[in-house]
Amino acid sequence: MALLDETPLLPARHLKLIEWASHYYHHPIGDVVFTSIPSLLRKGKAAIIKQEVIWLPTESGRKLKPENLSRAKKQLSILQFIKQHQHGVSQTRIQNEFENARNPLNELSVKNLIEKTTPATEKSDETVACQKDKAWILKPNKEQQNAIDKIISCSAAYQAFLLNGVTGSGKTEVYLHLIRYILESGKQVLVLIPEIGLTPQFIERINERFGDSIVTLHSGISEGERLIAWLKARNGTASVVLGTRSAIWTPMPRLGMIIIDEEHDLSYKQQDGLRYSARDLALIRGQREKIPVLLGSATPSMESMKNTRDGRYQELLLPKRINNAKLPDIQIHDVKNEKMYGAISQYLLKNIKQCLHNKQQILLFLNRRGYAPVVMCHDCGYISQCPRCTVYMTFHKHNKRLHCHHCGHNKRLPNTCPDCSGNQLIDVGHGTERLEETLAELLPEAKILRIDRDSTRRKGSMQKMLNDIHTGNADILIGTQMLAKGHHFPKVTLVGIVDADRGLFSIDYRASERLAQILMQVSGRAGRGGTPGTVIVQTHYPEHPLLNKLALHDYTQFTDLLLEERQQTQLPPFSFQVLIRAESNQQEIAIKFLNIAKTRLQTAAQGKLEIYGPVSAPMEKRAGRYRLQLIIQAGNRQTIKKFLTPWIESLDQLPEARKVRWSVDVDPQDMI
Ligand code: ADP
Ligand code: ZN
Repeated sequence: MALLDETPLLPARHLKLIEWASHYYHHPIGDVVFTSIPSLLRKGKAAIIKQEVIWLPTESGRKLKPENLSRAKKQLSILQFIKQHQHGVSQTRIQNEFENARNPLNELSVKNLIEKTTPATEKSDETVACQKDKAWILKPNKEQQNAIDKIISCSAAYQAFLLNGVTGSGKTEVYLHLIRYILESGKQVLVLIPEIGLTPQFIERINERFGDSIVTLHSGISEGERLIAWLKARNGTASVVLGTRSAIWTPMPRLGMIIIDEEHDLSYKQQDGLRYSARDLALIRGQREKIPVLLGSATPSMESMKNTRDGRYQELLLPKRINNAKLPDIQIHDVKNEKMYGAISQYLLKNIKQCLHNKQQILLFLNRRGYAPVVMCHDCGYISQCPRCTVYMTFHKHNKRLHCHHCGHNKRLPNTCPDCSGNQLIDVGHGTERLEETLAELLPEAKILRIDRDSTRRKGSMQKMLNDIHTGNADILIGTQMLAKGHHFPKVTLVGIVDADRGLFSIDYRASERLAQILMQVSGRAGRGGTPGTVIVQTHYPEHPLLNKLALHDYTQFTDLLLEERQQTQLPPFSFQVLIRAESNQQEIAIKFLNIAKTRLQTAAQGKLEIYGPVSAPMEKRAGRYRLQLIIQAGNRQTIKKFLTPWIESLDQLPEARKVRWSVDVDPQDMI
């Protein structure tokens, strides 16, 4: 093997973290290394940074009046974008921001409005001070200042903090002040955000303050960009790394703080391969590097709430919205027996009309994309079951196909029933596509925007829709959870939760926690611009205690209820779990493997562990394979660890293990 790099790719401290993860998650160390480095490095690319092209406005570019480029809209937008950055912008970043940017860039350069440079030497961040301009005029309020001071006073040692603040209470502003402090002390900051939370608004806000000392790492960048960002972080030339889950693996030589926004978010847990939790790893990393770790959320996870109660985390509260803006009024609306227009109750419709009349925006939340979640035959009862999974296939009207959202299987919607050839196929239930159609019929004048994974597939389309929302070029926003988090829509005053019932009754004990989180997050979108907001929650179970606690905005009381329940039932966070999953296209084979495994563990553990199963996973079959699981539970991590490590090694030797696909999930978040 050729020697590609002269300096070691991963610092020793980082290798230790990898070792820890390999051990804790029972995952082969080679694979952990692979997961944790950019894929181009895995393929043998040398770890050096190619010189980047930086674009700067020329003198005439600076002076140009927008009217003079009015017929070249894209060139104008790009020029404006470049002008916003005094040190110029890299070509990569422009291409991230604008689709097909190459031609307009050439045009602008031919017109002598912009020019290229390459940085002579990389700026070291000691010289990259924060932008000192108007962005910092917001003075932290008392609660924010208190949080900032507390954290700064512990900045030379490990301490976990939970910044528990309602939506719009100024958490992000606290992060920004802390980042500034850490940068000014010559250190680096790692900021993790959820997959969906990486909103352009957030990036803009952070860019505005820290300009080019930031690199971002998320699924939207190319592998080349990822490598450059990673190297800059590792070399210490980037002071802030802003990224989703996998950014936790970025080596940073002068790391001074880790911030995790929306710490309760599920996307921090990887659900396949190395099933790590970026939040938990951040805490471990913080302990080892002796730096503070800040977790922020309006709806903290039960794990973090318990850790706070046990005194392991320091809790910092931001109980009020900035400028005492009112939290929205949450109305639990009983839809039983009410006249419905598709998925919309008469009451919700009346409120929507009122908002439209007042020229305010409306956000309708429905976490189900597609047209109808199932298609059924009226004659024989046929149902559009996925042939490979135990779920129904969703009807998507725009391409007239049935899609399985779990395995990707899809097919044309048949004209007649596949079972009885009858022609009475009916689509049942409501997805975002259908909601859009219903509203377009009811309110032909309204401008409706649907924002889900289907409508935002094309690069730049999300950005365009967000622009439409902000410029008022949209009246009704229909969205899945993509819209629930992180965004700031000042003109939205009414939020409708179209269907709250699905989350109330589920076999997964975490479902109520998730429902609460999503309800609070979506509600947090309402009334941020000064006009108080209203949230209408459509349900058939208005007396449900959970909904009622939430209507009072009392997440703490809700937490009390839920933690009490979890304690009584000895479920996490009052116990620790490991899930062993086994999949096979023959159910018996998976059962046999798990039974043998279970017997071995029972013999070894002598009653010190609780072992449940084998049981079918909630989704019994997926992509043609039966899925079964063993749940192993104990009151503390050490007990699990002690018995699991030798046991898992012994399983590898079993001939039955070779016949199934099996995996270990430590601290599982999702039973599916
Ligand atoms: P969160 O992250 O908790 O939702 P943000 O930090 O986004 O809250 O703050 C909500 C809004 O309040 C933002 O528009 C922000 O600019 C503004 N804001 C935050 N802190 C202050 C402050 N101290 N003074 C004035 N406005 C503030
Ligand atoms: Zn399927």
